[in-house]
Amino acid sequence: MSYIKILCLLLVLCLLFVSCSPAQAPDATTPSKCADGHIDEGNDGFCDRCSEFLLVMVDFYALNDIHGKLADADTHLGLDELSTYLENARNTDDHAIFLNAGDMWQGASESNLTHGRIMVDWMNEMGFAAMAIGNHEYDWGEAPIEENAQFAQFPFLAINIYDRETNQQVSYCKSSTVVDLGQLQIGIIGAVGDCYSSISSDKVTDVYFKTGSELTQLVKHESDMLREAGADFIVYVLHDGLGSNKTGSVSDSMLKSYYDVALSDGYVDLVFEGHTHRKYVITDSYGVYHLQGGGDNEGISHVEVAINIATGKPSVQTAELVEPRIYAHEEDHPIVSELLDKYADSVDKGNEILGTNNYNRNSKYMQQLVADLYYQAGEEIWGDEYDIALGGGFISIRDPGYLAAGDVSYKMLYSLFPFDNQLVLCSIKGKDLLDRFYNTTNNRYFISYGEYGRYLEQNIEYDETYYVVVDSYSSLYGPNKLTEIERYDAEVYARDLLAQYAKDGGFQNY
Ligand SMILES: [Zn+2]
Ligand SMILES: [Zn+2]
Repeated sequence: MSYIKILCLLLVLCLLFVSCSPAQAPDATTPSKCADGHIDEGNDGFCDRCSEFLLVMVDFYALNDIHGKLADADTHLGLDELSTYLENARNTDDHAIFLNAGDMWQGASESNLTHGRIMVDWMNEMGFAAMAIGNHEYDWGEAPIEENAQFAQFPFLAINIYDRETNQQVSYCKSSTVVDLGQLQIGIIGAVGDCYSSISSDKVTDVYFKTGSELTQLVKHESDMLREAGADFIVYVLHDGLGSNKTGSVSDSMLKSYYDVALSDGYVDLVFEGHTHRKYVITDSYGVYHLQGGGDNEGISHVEVAINIATGKPSVQTAELVEPRIYAHEEDHPIVSELLDKYADSVDKGNEILGTNNYNRNSKYMQQLVADLYYQAGEEIWGDEYDIALGGGFISIRDPGYLAAGDVSYKMLYSLFPFDNQLVLCSIKGKDLLDRFYNTTNNRYFISYGEYGRYLEQNIEYDETYYVVVDSYSSLYGPNKLTEIERYDAEVYARDLLAQYAKDGGFQNY
């Protein structure tokens, strides 16, 4: 064979080799062709030496503020279609990571009656990577969070929840977690926003939240540690967010109330938010995306990021809200009915039909009725001993905001008044009674009173002590200046008074 022929053969062999090695996305099991690492000076996604495709796609799907809505109801979608959507995503995407930005448990009876356990079970089954703690996770105090943390196969994240006594982070939360994708490490940091005061204070006596610059420092420090340990991309899951629906780039001053944009200067690469139940896909001045999916199963925040394993540079390919109309037509995933069966002993109480309601009762009607029932219950329990001036307080109604005509189930009442706030007999000075209850301009305050209370309205003596019956949320709210005297049964809440009212045929009246 001539020298020229040998050269030609070599050339053909070379060409064959190149054409048989198409650029392909590597996965965790493909060993790198460049033993000493790839180089991609131009960041074009291909190795300058071996031409290997260097971009790894990671898809994040985040939920926020689901508020226990696992099962379908007349007023909202359950998670059965959403589960199928997420499972399909897991099967199609190279790397799908499921996250949760908090307020997962409180709000629908199937979750409340299990203290959130059924939702944690659902997240275990779906393979969630982490959940940030929301303010409503504290609605039953710390114990259920601790128990659910034991049961969860993923970490609860809150870098800023501290124990008052030890001044250490609470044991049931971690600051961060790492999802190991082989060639890539994804760091996830979680925090709860400045929403401590929205929790009934008797539920958070042992903890405090670090906020503002303290929170910024904690996140920066955690991010540094994660990066040092090899994290290529850092996601911040924050139970707090923007107060309005927005799209596009926003000014940093819009984020100021809950997010320090200094974190976007290299500390966090993507932010999933919650708490305000808004829908947005926005970018801050550093180009970092912030998303929130509306809450109550009104959307999924989805971000696809391509990360270059040679340069470490991420680029967001997609940032979108997946609206319910996209997933509502999916098949029902069996997981939801399986979980409802599994927890039937607890959940069935919610399905009990208590009575009939003759017409739709709006929010004002229901809130006033709760105030009336507080007053009546107070008269029955303490009326012999105390001259009770009035019952009521700050009465907040939840989904769907009215009681529909027809059968009344415990579940419906649970959804309207989900909070475990006890009835409390309190004393109050005349001046405060007048300011906080009779003359309040807060339209969420509802009061009810009998003859004595009506008489008092015109004849209050500022320094005299009076007696009122409110729930423990109102009694503990400092500005009300109430002094607790006695609490009633720990198992009786607004919804239970309403349940008895329904059983007595109350909702059949006009
Ligand atoms: Zn919420
Ligand atoms: Zn919240």
